[in-house]
Amino acid sequence: MKKIDKHAALTEQHNGMLAQIVKNSPVATFVIDTQHRVILWNRACEIITGVAASQIIGSTGAWQPFYPQERPVMADLIVEGRLNEMANYYAGKYRPSPTLQGTWEAEDFFPHFPDGGKWLTFTATELKDEKNRIIGAIETLRDVTVEKTAEAAWRDSQHLLHEIIDGSPVPMFVLNAQHQVTYWNRACEALNGTMAKEMIGTRLQWKAFYPNERPVLADLIVDGKTEEISKQYQNICRPSLLIENAWEATTYFPDFQSGPKWLYFTAAPLHSLDGQIVGAVETLQDVTAQKKYEQQLEYKANYDTLTGLANRNLLNNRLRQAIIQAQRGNLLLAVLFLDLDNFKQINDTLGHSAGDEVIQAFGQRISGAVRDVDTVARISGDEYVVLLHAPQSVGHITTVVRRLLDQVEAKLQIRGRELYIGCSVGIALYPKDGDNPESLMMNADAAMYRAKASDKGGFRYYSDDFNKGAILWMELKQQLHYALTSGQLELYYQPQYSVQTKRITGAEALLRWNHPSKGLLLPDVFIPIAEETGLIIPIGNWVVRTAITEAQQWQEVLGSALRLSVNISARQFRYKSLLELLDRVVDHTGFAPLNLELELTESLVMNNPDKVNALLKKIKSKGFSLAMDDFGTGYSSLAYLRRFPFDMVKIDQSFIADLGQNTEAEAIVRAMLTLGKALGLRMVAEGVETEAQWNFLRAEGCDEIQGFWFSRPLCASDFMELLKAQGQVKT
Ligand code: C2E
Ligand code: MG
Ligand code: MG
Repeated sequence: MKKIDKHAALTEQHNGMLAQIVKNSPVATFVIDTQHRVILWNRACEIITGVAASQIIGSTGAWQPFYPQERPVMADLIVEGRLNEMANYYAGKYRPSPTLQGTWEAEDFFPHFPDGGKWLTFTATELKDEKNRIIGAIETLRDVTVEKTAEAAWRDSQHLLHEIIDGSPVPMFVLNAQHQVTYWNRACEALNGTMAKEMIGTRLQWKAFYPNERPVLADLIVDGKTEEISKQYQNICRPSLLIENAWEATTYFPDFQSGPKWLYFTAAPLHSLDGQIVGAVETLQDVTAQKKYEQQLEYKANYDTLTGLANRNLLNNRLRQAIIQAQRGNLLLAVLFLDLDNFKQINDTLGHSAGDEVIQAFGQRISGAVRDVDTVARISGDEYVVLLHAPQSVGHITTVVRRLLDQVEAKLQIRGRELYIGCSVGIALYPKDGDNPESLMMNADAAMYRAKASDKGGFRYYSDDFNKGAILWMELKQQLHYALTSGQLELYYQPQYSVQTKRITGAEALLRWNHPSKGLLLPDVFIPIAEETGLIIPIGNWVVRTAITEAQQWQEVLGSALRLSVNISARQFRYKSLLELLDRVVDHTGFAPLNLELELTESLVMNNPDKVNALLKKIKSKGFSLAMDDFGTGYSSLAYLRRFPFDMVKIDQSFIADLGQNTEAEAIVRAMLTLGKALGLRMVAEGVETEAQWNFLRAEGCDEIQGFWFSRPLCASDFMELLKAQGQVKT
C-alpha cells in the first residue's frame, strides 16, 4: 500500500512537472479533451493568440482565437477521428508529419490575429491513455510571420531583378563567378539571335560573338584580368568613365548570327556584400547605323562625291603629311595643279551633266596616269591637284607630267560626241617653291595660269623668275568684282565708217578697266578672268545697258539713229539669260533692236553650230542685228556661214595687217569680199591702220572699216565730240 502510494505520489509529481513544462514551454501549445474542451492553454499560446488561458480553459471554443466563425480546429478533427475531413478545412496547406505518426502539420495565414494577421505553422497530434484510447489532442503553434514576410520580400525582389534585367531594352547578360550565364535578357536575344535557353547555365557566351572559343569581356572582368583586357581588345577598349572597374569597347563583329554588326559593349564586375567579385554584367549596343553614318560623314568630309577623288580637305592633310615626310627624308615633293581648258564652254554648250561626265572622265584618267601612292584630288569645278610623292628628280617629274598630259588629253566620247579637251598644268616643288601647303598650292596655281595664258595644254614649273603675268592674273581675279560694283569699268567706243561716204555708220563698244594702281587695262587682260569666274554675266549686262544709254544720247545729238555694236562672249551666250536681257533692255529704253548689233566670234558659233543657230534665229526674229567677229580665225568658210542669220562679217585684223605686204593675204581678203557680197553680207574690215590698207579695201569694195587709221576707241565724251564734228574725217 505504501508502495502504491509512493508510486501514486511520484506519478502525481510527474504530472505536475509535465503540466509545468507544457505551460512554460516556449512552444505555443493547447490541449483539448474528447469533449473538445480546452484543458490547457500555455503562456506562449496566450502570447501568439492574444487570448488568456483564463478566458478559454473549460470552453469548447478553441476555434475562437483563430476563425471568425465556428469551425473545427485540427485538434477537434483528431479527437473525433475525422481525418478524412482534414482536406476540407486545410486543402493544400496540410500534410501528415513525415516523422511522427498520427501527427498532422499545416501552415496558414490568420488575418484576424493582432497586428494585421499572422502566419502560423501548427501541428496536432492525438493523446491516448494506456489502453490506447483517445483522450484528447494537443496542438502546437509557431508564429512564422517574420520568416514568411522576409521570404515574400525576397521573392518580390528576385522577381523585380529578373524583370529589370529581362525587360530592359538594353541587351545584357550576366555571368556568375564560375563564368556561367545566369541572365541573358530578351533584348540580348533580339540583338544577336542567341536564345536565353541556349545560354543560361552554360559557359557558351563566346558562341554568341565569336567563331572560336575565347573569353568575352565579362569573363575577363570576372577574373579581374585587366591587363588581359587591353591585350584582347587592343585599341578598342578603355576603362569606363562612369563606373569604376568597368570597361567599354566598340568593335565590328563580322560573324554575328543576326548579320555583321558594330557593337558598343560594356562589362562591369558584380560584388558580394563583402566586396568579392561574384560575377559580371555585360551590356551590348548595336551601333552599326551610327558607324555607317560616321563613315559616310568622314567620306563626305574627305572625298569629292562626283569623282570619288580626295577633296580639298583631304588634300590639305596629305600635303601637310607629305611635307613632313619630305623634310625628314630629304625628299622631293611635287604639287601639280591641273585645269581643263575651256571647260566653261563645254558646260555652257553641252549642259551641266555632260560637264560632269567630262570631270569624271578626267578624274579617272589622271588617277590612271600616276602611281597609287600619289594623291589625286579634285578641289573645285575643273581643277585637280596631284601630289607626286618622292619623285627621283625634276627630270622624272617632267616625264610623269608629259605622260599625264598624253593620257588625259586623248579624245573623249561624251554623249555621242567626240571631244578634245586640253588641260594646263602648273608645278610647284618642295622645298624650292614653298615649304608649306599654302604657298605650294598658290605657286602651283600661279604656274598653271601661266601655262594656260601662254600655251594651252602645256605645263609650267613655278620658278623664282616667275612671270609676273600669273601673279597679276590672280590679283585681278580678286579685284574684278569690286571693279564692277565700284564703277571702275568704262566703255570706249570705236567708230565704224562707211567706205563710200566716209561717214560714221556705227560704233563698237569696247570695255576698259580703270584700275586704281595699274591704269587703264584692256579687255584681253581681264575678259578671260571674267569668263573664268562667271563675272562675265553681270559685266556683260552692264555693258549692254550702259552702251544703249549712251547711244540714245548720240541719236539726240545726231538727230538720226546710229548702229551700236557690243561684244558677246561664249559664256554670256546662254539661251535664257541673253534673250531675257535683250528683251528687258529694249522694254526699258525703247531702243530700236535693229540698231543694236551683237558681235559673236567665229569660234563660239562653230563650237555648237546647231544650238547657236537656233538662238541666233530667235534673236534675229526679235529684230536685232548680228555680226560675226574676227572672221577668218576659225577656219570656217563663208559658204558655210550662209546657214546663220548674220547681217555683217568682220574680217579679222590679222588679215588686214598683212595687206600690202603679203599677196596671199590680199588674195584671201579679196575672195572673202567677193563671196560675202555675193551672199548679201555687209563686209567690215577690222584693224585698218594704214592708207595702203584703206586703199586696198576701197578698191575691193569693202563696205565698212574700223581701225586706228580713222579713229582709236574713244571715251564716251570724246566720241560725242567726234560725232558733233561729223564730216571731218581723214581722206
Ligand atoms: P574685237 O571685238 O575684235 O575688238 C576689236 C579690237 O581691235 C579692240 O581691242 C580694238 O581696240 C582693236 N583695234 C581697233 N582698231 C585697231 C587697229 O587699227 N589696230 C589694232 N592693232 N587694233 C585695233 P580691245 O578694245 O583691246 O578689245 C579686245 C577684244 O576684247 C575685243 O576684240 C573683244 O573680243 C573683247 N571685248 C571688248 N569689249 C568687250 C565686251 O564688252 N564684252 C566682251 N565679251 N568682250 C569684249
Ligand atoms: Mg568685236
Ligand atoms: Mg574683232
